[in-house]
Amino acid sequence: MRIHDISLPISARLPVWPGDPPVVVSFHQHLERGDGCTLSHLSLSTHAGTHVDAPAHFLAGGTTVDTLALAALIGPALVVDVGPVSAITAAVLWDLAIPLQVERLLFRTRNSAKWAAGEERFGEDFVAITEDGAQWLVERKVRLVGVDYLSVAPFAAPEPTHRVLLAAGVLVVEGLNLHDVVPGDYELVCLPLRLEGTDGAPARAVLIERDCP
Ligand SMILES: [Zn+2]
Repeated sequence: MRIHDISLPISARLPVWPGDPPVVVSFHQHLERGDGCTLSHLSLSTHAGTHVDAPAHFLAGGTTVDTLALAALIGPALVVDVGPVSAITAAVLWDLAIPLQVERLLFRTRNSAKWAAGEERFGEDFVAITEDGAQWLVERKVRLVGVDYLSVAPFAAPEPTHRVLLAAGVLVVEGLNLHDVVPGDYELVCLPLRLEGTDGAPARAVLIERDCP
């Protein structure tokens, strides 16, 4: 069994969405300062780094992250490479020949190269899913969608894609690093922190690869 960590390291170097709070990690106590232990203080948005969006992110009265159905976040997942496209549209999705019955879909795009290169600045030109792409995924009854930049939706139009997916109960995982992952079938485990009543939460996400007999 091989485990691929597809989460972004949380640090002050992590790019964040323009206007979101920065990631701050500081030592509240430290052994080197004579304290009895080392203990860090963390300040960040619920959508920092690799994270899960809850319906409450865009839908008034929507489900919050602490009560999401965990079954959707654990199980078989397909990693698909979309190639050099600049947006994941319904037409792009048709061309990918994604098998029917796939419940968890993770899209590897040119975004992942930014993480591999250690990009520290937010870039508006990331590849994301358009509204008609989101509708395609809902019609296919996909339960979970994962993307490799900080939003599932294009920078210029964040709302439609989020609304279509979240209103249909599709779980959205953002900020994955799929650079080192070969497209194919895996087992996904992605568990967001159980932050009570919040619109999302950082998560550790891994893909498990089992050796074929
Ligand atoms: Zn988010």
